[in-house]
Amino acid sequence: MNLLGVHALVWAGDWTEPSARFAIESTREVGFDLIELALLDPAATDVAMTKRLLADNGLAVTCSLGLDQDTDVSSEDPTVVARGRDRLAAALEVAHGIGATHLCGVLYSALRKYSQPASPRSRENSRAAMAWLAEQTSAAGVTLALEVVNRYETNIANTAAEMLAYIDESGADIALHLDSYHMNIEENGLVEPVQQAGPRLGYLHIGESHRGYLGTGNVDFRSLFAAVRDSGYAGPVTFESFSSAVVHPSLSNVLGVWRNLWEDSRDLAAHAHAFMAEGLAPR
Ligand code: MN
Repeated sequence: MNLLGVHALVWAGDWTEPSARFAIESTREVGFDLIELALLDPAATDVAMTKRLLADNGLAVTCSLGLDQDTDVSSEDPTVVARGRDRLAAALEVAHGIGATHLCGVLYSALRKYSQPASPRSRENSRAAMAWLAEQTSAAGVTLALEVVNRYETNIANTAAEMLAYIDESGADIALHLDSYHMNIEENGLVEPVQQAGPRLGYLHIGESHRGYLGTGNVDFRSLFAAVRDSGYAGPVTFESFSSAVVHPSLSNVLGVWRNLWEDSRDLAAHAHAFMAEGLAPR
């Protein structure tokens, strides 16, 4: 069965010890197996404190991030690419240090709106950085998964098919990370991308079309969950939701979280856990 997880930003916008304790304890109390930490600023994560709280609560952990404009490995500027590789190496060090099983997200470009298509040099710099990162994650025993996001958040790949082709071109052992929120925007449906990914699916985000309560928007979860059950996918399934009620200093703005979709993290998370467990239960 899949480990069910929840993104830390459902609980807290920072990672001070009180915030980390609240997020980790709440994740366990609601019934999740796993918490996903956003490592946009790896240096801000206290590895020893995080590892201790995770162990005390018996939770698994995964890490995600998106790069910014100053660390964009798809930049044509080699100094920006070098900063990006440093950021990814720092994130992997923290992920490995806290015992994360997966490093995922938008690791192959900045997480932002681009104003032009990716140039051949951008794509080559990005692919080379991912091939390099795959060697590091493999040595650390961490699964590397690249998230397919919509056109307003990257210009490298916006569909499962595009990302699979990109990974093939990189020549590296990298898994696909799908997200229902992005699939709902870019794909022909929610079944085809799961089938195209097949055994290469390595991580799955569950988010509603407005990123609020599951089942209250436009995402066809019945089709998605059926496709995931049929695929035999056994990896993590993590709930991602954002509201102006919990604000991360950089990620919330990048994602355009201007709206209050919920106030009560615990009610939201408990509802999501039940929704996902029911959807993924074997038929
Ligand atoms: Mn996502």
